[in-house]
Amino acid sequence: MSDYITSNIKGIFIDNQVKRSPITNNVSKNAGSIPIIYGDFSSLDDRELKKGYVYLVKYKGRFFKKCPGTKFYNCCGYKIIHIGEGCPLNCSYCILKAYFSHNSIKVWANIEDLYMELDKVFSNREKFFRVGTGEFTDSLAIEYLTNYSKYLIEFLSQFKNVILELKTKVVDLSWIDAVKDPRLVLPAWSLNGIDVPLKEEMSTAPLEERLKAAKICAEMGFRVCLHFDPIIYYPGWERGYKETIEMIFDYIKPKDIAYLSLGSFRGMPYLFKFIEENWPDSDYIYFGEFIKGIDGKLRLFRPIRIKQFRFMVNLLRKYGVDKQIYFCMESDEVWRACLGYTPKDIGGLANHLIQLSFAPFQSTN
Ligand code: SF4
Repeated sequence: MSDYITSNIKGIFIDNQVKRSPITNNVSKNAGSIPIIYGDFSSLDDRELKKGYVYLVKYKGRFFKKCPGTKFYNCCGYKIIHIGEGCPLNCSYCILKAYFSHNSIKVWANIEDLYMELDKVFSNREKFFRVGTGEFTDSLAIEYLTNYSKYLIEFLSQFKNVILELKTKVVDLSWIDAVKDPRLVLPAWSLNGIDVPLKEEMSTAPLEERLKAAKICAEMGFRVCLHFDPIIYYPGWERGYKETIEMIFDYIKPKDIAYLSLGSFRGMPYLFKFIEENWPDSDYIYFGEFIKGIDGKLRLFRPIRIKQFRFMVNLLRKYGVDKQIYFCMESDEVWRACLGYTPKDIGGLANHLIQLSFAPFQSTN
């Protein structure tokens, strides 16, 4: 797996300020044939970053953040542990690639500062947190270099009020050794229609490999999360998503799924332009009808989204996945039309997902 990710990485720049970080140490050990260059890189402007390079630098902002959702739609209340930006994989629909035009990867190597900040945030044991690292990067794409998740899991194991989701499109289970309590970690895989990864998700693991990894995790006592986001509208989409949903249950059982999200392809207009210019064969931006939502993003016309979601929900329910399903950034109207209720009816989406995340503690305590 790491070989084809490595081929996307041209070199690693290590800033002098993080020379002694444990993350730097791991990267130096694991880099193999990738060239490493030391120097002063922390103050580089994004325009000076080199495409395809990894930068290990000191981060001076807040590591703990709210997901940049929108107040216009139902947000899942996800909290981010910000470990870096960018990704060596290549998905045509990737908002990060369109947004961070430098297409390099930044890793915040000053992990001790991250520990200090998180210690303060999570020390209120009365509060429960569902956190993840997969918002501005893939959680595990360069884990084989950094071991960042492994360190994070070790650190977070002292907090029984924090559940960490690792969201990825690769297969890397090396972090498992660091887990003391599998209830505190939710490995998560993004899935798509059976024929989508080959065309639209370059360098990612095949869907079947992702599900095999999910099965290994389930056998080891973890529950997993699955994300169908973005669901793409293309000729034959029903068959494509049906085959993937059927394949899920060749590997895992509904009870192994903590929660499962559905999100239809959407994005700011510049994402569409980016896809048009960089992925000429990605024709899904021309199918269906895109309208501008109240958050400024283009998304498929509501009846088409409802058709997509109803199709997925009906199939998933047939297999026994029901209350774990939620929609990413959708309106009450869409919830009601596809699930028969709104987030408010289940106590609010963020609260519902916290309940699902911590459910194994409730059943054993
Ligand atoms: S895996 Fe995620 S972050 Fe990486 S290229 Fe694909 S969409 Fe972007």
